[in-house]
Amino acid sequence: MPELPEVETVRRGLEKLIVGSKITDVQLPYPKVITGDSQQFVTGVLNAEFEKISRRGKYLLLQLSNQHTIVSHLRMEGQYSVEPSDTEPYKHTEIIFGLSDNRALFYNDTRRFGRMILTTTGFEMTEVPSLAKLGPEPTEEQLTLSYMKTIFAKSKRPVKTFLLDQTQIAGIGNIYADEVLWQSKIHPKTPASMLSDVELIVLRENIITEIKRATDHHGTTVHSFSNVFGEVGKFQNELEAYGRVGESCLRCGATMIKIKVGQRGTTFCPVCQVEKK
Ligand SMILES: [Zn+2]
Repeated sequence: MPELPEVETVRRGLEKLIVGSKITDVQLPYPKVITGDSQQFVTGVLNAEFEKISRRGKYLLLQLSNQHTIVSHLRMEGQYSVEPSDTEPYKHTEIIFGLSDNRALFYNDTRRFGRMILTTTGFEMTEVPSLAKLGPEPTEEQLTLSYMKTIFAKSKRPVKTFLLDQTQIAGIGNIYADEVLWQSKIHPKTPASMLSDVELIVLRENIITEIKRATDHHGTTVHSFSNVFGEVGKFQNELEAYGRVGESCLRCGATMIKIKVGQRGTTFCPVCQVEKK
């Protein structure tokens, strides 16, 4: 599943490729990709230009020149690509925005979980309630230590599960949760409220740094992620915990193990990341 670094990579690609382009035609091979009335969606985007591409958590916001914004969530495998306008739809192409410059923006999704919804610009939060509920972005400015202390103190959930909760902190998924817990030497099942102030300081720094580093590497390619240019992310070569079950811990040499925490596969080092009891 694309996490924040992957979605930010897609955002940057779309910003370079489609801002200023006008939507002259919409084909909808898979109308279910649209939440709400798909015909209204088509009417609402036709003849508008892509004006600005922004992101909140794992949501993309494609702002149009006509007071509408498309809110897009890629979920598991959603992908955008920009193609010459005479390109035939792929097997899993769900929507094609024909552009005025002989190109087309394709949205492809092998798992068909991704969704788009047309909102009124400025009212995205009201019209997409899950957007309004998102926690702060994992950045130095927005994810403050005092906020971390407040939210962690309130929860007895395992820290791994807690980190995946988008209403607490936006943008962290399974990959980066495993990474930051390994870096912080925190056992994934530790109840959030049991983390010490020092552990929270370390965890916060690791979250901010890791998300930034992964974004700088254009994200991680696991399964089919690629950016709008069809390039794959490079961060999988930098991963220290995720996907390393059975391999040696890069810090202490112990064998990394995998368990389920809240139904999610979780890889960690049983020596460096000791469970608090
Ligand atoms: Zn270790």
